[in-house]
Amino acid sequence: MVAYDQSTGTLRYSEKPIYTTSNGCPINDPESSQRVGQNGPLLLQDFHLIDLLAHFDRERIPERVVHAKGAGAYGEFEVLDDVSDLTSCDMLNGVGKKTKCVARFSTVGGEKGSPDSARDPRGFSLKFYTEEGNWDWVFNNTPIFFLRDPSKFPIFIHTQKRNPQTNLKDATMFWDYLSTHQESAHQVMQLFSDRGTPYSYRHMNGYSGHTYKLTKPDGTFHYIQIHCKTDQGSKTFTNAEAANMAAENPDWHTQDLFDSIQNGDFPSWTCYLQVLSPEQAEQFRWNIFDLTKVWPQKDVPLRRFGKFTLNRNCENYFAEIEQVAFSPSHMVPGVEPSADPVLQSRLFSYPDTHRHRLGVNYQQIPVNQPLRAFNPYQRDGIMAVNGNYGANPNYPSTYRNMTYKPVKPSQEHERWAGAAVAQQLPVSEEDFVQPGMLWEVLGRQAGQQDNFVGNVAGHLSGAKDGVRRRTYDMFRKIDGELGRRIEVETEKLAPHPQSQAKGSAEPRFKVEASQGMGIQV
Ligand code: NDP
Repeated sequence: MVAYDQSTGTLRYSEKPIYTTSNGCPINDPESSQRVGQNGPLLLQDFHLIDLLAHFDRERIPERVVHAKGAGAYGEFEVLDDVSDLTSCDMLNGVGKKTKCVARFSTVGGEKGSPDSARDPRGFSLKFYTEEGNWDWVFNNTPIFFLRDPSKFPIFIHTQKRNPQTNLKDATMFWDYLSTHQESAHQVMQLFSDRGTPYSYRHMNGYSGHTYKLTKPDGTFHYIQIHCKTDQGSKTFTNAEAANMAAENPDWHTQDLFDSIQNGDFPSWTCYLQVLSPEQAEQFRWNIFDLTKVWPQKDVPLRRFGKFTLNRNCENYFAEIEQVAFSPSHMVPGVEPSADPVLQSRLFSYPDTHRHRLGVNYQQIPVNQPLRAFNPYQRDGIMAVNGNYGANPNYPSTYRNMTYKPVKPSQEHERWAGAAVAQQLPVSEEDFVQPGMLWEVLGRQAGQQDNFVGNVAGHLSGAKDGVRRRTYDMFRKIDGELGRRIEVETEKLAPHPQSQAKGSAEPRFKVEASQGMGIQV
């Protein structure tokens, strides 16, 4: 048994187990190898040593290509308001109903050892263990994303990661992509506001970003987006504070979450829905399947429905948080995907990643196991550890009765889905309207516009001249004054063109607050 001692911050063990090899054989001395005589060589028969080394050599599994660095904890969701008019979802069925969950927060672009405070969107994922299967929310801390066509996702992510030649983060590569794919302007505005550097995981909101459907057994449905608002209050670092924290404590967000839960200070988030009927969606100014757009709250107000609280740390990070496997395709009756093309591609890509990282039986890993699952037609495969459904037939057998629960899919709404596909248009003036709305929001908060300009300038100044100029034009389309200010501030920091042309010894990437923290973008 293991217990956490709050006064010393250490784990206490109340038992004295007998140490053995992995096959259970007791070992006298785990720290000396069998050898011939005093000086060796070693013996092939020393299974303990070989077992230890061979296992050590295989400790690493592939880290996630995105969202590699993260932290998580367990908790509970509670229904606060009745939403039975919208859905039959078991978890939302009745005010006061509670459902256990596990959460994981993460940066996106950095490797597993990268600093928590880097400028980056944050992953915001939850797995709810409902009576009718696991329902995963695979959200971000921003309500939108850089793209609306999924084929751009791997391409875009490459520009956030390392240059294939230098193996360095590359400001030119990043802004080259953004300035030639300007549907990303809205997310750029989010990312380079101070919300791009949250103070901690506890102090940020989570947004579904995508549109989903909440459905009822009669086949009717509503389109929804989910907002999780931090009850701790939204709190951010400035660029300089984030850079300092990256140097002082690269694991700050991880530590903050663990310590606060360990100290009984349980973080919570209140959850809201934005709801549109299919008819309203057709009339709506914005394409609800476009991931670069929000639903303005004055048009679609938030409707509270629940709250989740994180109240228990994991016992083992690797087993429970590194191996937790979220997917937007892990849905339950009462919830369905919309036709959003980026969501549709994630329905495939997330489980595909888990099969690669964790194996085809990833749902059998304890943290991923649903309360009840019975699918004996899926058999064998690597690490089939749950008994592999024993002698149950592996086909729909006349010798084994099974109940197939009738679940009626929602009405398709084909006309609108077709219209939405037709609306996947090239970048237009519409793409700069909502970024402009956010620029106005920042203007209502003291210092936030100045910080935004400084945050962009510090990073953009590391890009080559032509890319910088194209990016100024992009910001001018959002707001003329914004574009002008970014140009002035960036050019103050950018290397002189002649020194670039001569290939002087000046560093290609200026190491200052906005870049010196292994910044993701
Ligand atoms: P409102 O003008 O009605 O309200 C302000 C919105 O801005 C709130 O949703 C708030 O998000 C968000 N916000 C406040 N401060 C910041 C900040 N420093 N950085 C980023 N976001 C901030 O909002 P509208 O709905 O009319 O949208 C205006 C703009 O706000 C949008 O273009 C979008 O960029 C941004 N936004 C909108 C959201 C939405 O779902 N409608 C959600 C988040 C941002 P919150 O209350 O969730 O903290």
